[in-house]
Amino acid sequence: MKFSNEVTLYLAGIIALFGIATSTYLAIEIKDQRQQITGLLQERNIFLQQANQKNAELSVASTTIGELRGELTDIKEDLEELADDYKDEKGRNEEFEDQIRDLAGTLGDLDKLAKTDEELLAKYSKVYFLNENYNPTRLKQIDSEYILPGKKDQYFHAEVIDHLEDLLDAAAKDNMDLKIVSAYRSFDEQVDLKGQFTQVYGTGANAFSADQGYSEHQLGTTVDLTTSAVGGAYNSFKDTQEYQWLLTNAYQYGFILSYPEGNSFYIFEPWHWRFVGVDLAEDMHRSGEDFYALDQREINEYLINFFE
Ligand SMILES: [Zn+2]
Repeated sequence: MKFSNEVTLYLAGIIALFGIATSTYLAIEIKDQRQQITGLLQERNIFLQQANQKNAELSVASTTIGELRGELTDIKEDLEELADDYKDEKGRNEEFEDQIRDLAGTLGDLDKLAKTDEELLAKYSKVYFLNENYNPTRLKQIDSEYILPGKKDQYFHAEVIDHLEDLLDAAAKDNMDLKIVSAYRSFDEQVDLKGQFTQVYGTGANAFSADQGYSEHQLGTTVDLTTSAVGGAYNSFKDTQEYQWLLTNAYQYGFILSYPEGNSFYIFEPWHWRFVGVDLAEDMHRSGEDFYALDQREINEYLINFFE
């Protein structure tokens, strides 16, 4: 089949036009695609940049966190060390406080001991007796209700008088008729008294002085007790219920018999009671030992609690 040239040309023209149109379209299309790709690439780059930046920031942050963690660990260690130091220091302080307390206690005891008159628990004899200038620190008058009627005013050591009155009150409560004949006596009074007995009993007064405990009376902590019925007839006091009551109860008030019946040192004086402190009197009552049979050093251990 044969086409005319015109038709051929026409067709060729159409084909060419179509080709041009197609290629133009494709070109436009490609351009578009390229632009889109460029756009995407730009976006990607921006994204990558941002990602890098974030990464860098994160890395900085993680370094910072690492450093902070390190610092925290250091601080924690420091705090623990401080806590340990504090504990040590506290321990040392407590130890120190204990030492101070102990020391204060010891000083208090020493002070108390220094202020407690050693004579109050001394053992006296014909060769060891109180100096003529010795006087109790303070004397107090004994209420007349406790004194045997007709006797002069009597005085007692001010810090021991409560024990004496407690003893006599307890006796009165048990219907005991206990009375004081003699309490504190000065050195001069002792000398007079001894003279009197020397006159009355002659030379026998040295063996039987009627009151060998004259130094004990000078202390202001010793009493001669009797009953209204017995009065000054000292020796029969041992036969009274009051004497029995004293043997049973006096120790509770700190009083002991200086020269008990059957002692190996002195003549028995049932009327003569000396305050030696409740502690010692109780221990003596328990052991059954006599004051003058005890060792002086042993006795002195009771000095610190003498007034209690
Ligand atoms: Zn006496």
